[in-house]
Amino acid sequence: MRVVALPGGGTARVFSLTGRDEDGIARDDTTAAALATTALIGSCVEVDGAAPSAERARTLLVGDREFLMLQLRRETLGERIFAVVGCSACGADVDVAFDAADVPVESPAVVETRGEIRYRGRAIAFRLPTGEDQEAVLGLRLEEAESQLLDRCVDGGASGLSRGARDAVVAAMERRAPRIDLELDVVCPECGAAHAVPFDVTAFFLGELGVRGDRLLREIHALALAYHWTEDAILALPRKRRRAYLALVGAGRG
Ligand SMILES: [Zn+2]
Repeated sequence: MRVVALPGGGTARVFSLTGRDEDGIARDDTTAAALATTALIGSCVEVDGAAPSAERARTLLVGDREFLMLQLRRETLGERIFAVVGCSACGADVDVAFDAADVPVESPAVVETRGEIRYRGRAIAFRLPTGEDQEAVLGLRLEEAESQLLDRCVDGGASGLSRGARDAVVAAMERRAPRIDLELDVVCPECGAAHAVPFDVTAFFLGELGVRGDRLLREIHALALAYHWTEDAILALPRKRRRAYLALVGAGRG
């Protein structure tokens, strides 16, 4: 368990995923990232002393949710992140490695979840988007999703706003919102091109969990054979504890 300060304010206690959490993600890799994020934070994170719940996870700012997914990754799978990104010049796969602790988190000095701007003499009040907003626009095309998100977050709706006013509100939101700002500086070993690649922590972590599904099944099998525990009992273990038992029965590798 680790205690962290949320970039959007408040504190959280972050617990390792259990096998049950891992299994939920591994079983259905079509689950939208926003829903998977709510499920994992809602199961493994206490915010400001309250028991983990999906309701609370939905009320968190988008940047806080991303930050917590990074912390869940650290707590469950460790600090070191190995990833493969595509070279934008030649398309070659480039290996990158970095520590989760080094991922930059942008946090405004004073976090205000509400704000107001003046645009051409008109006051426009808004709030910062949360997980609930992310879930509400699931499945929409990007442009439509952005438009509806704005509509939900602007007082009185955004339908009456000009293009310029909308852009100004979005810019003001971005200045206020905490976020993970991760761009990897990559030099391609094939063509030598140097470029910055944006890295989506949430998508990466969910991908890791999905890939590990087969291994989880083998681990359940090994522990059930050795200890005669039920699948339920094995899945209730935090990952580190499960791995510790696997090491004892000599099946921890692979
Ligand atoms: Zn290249």
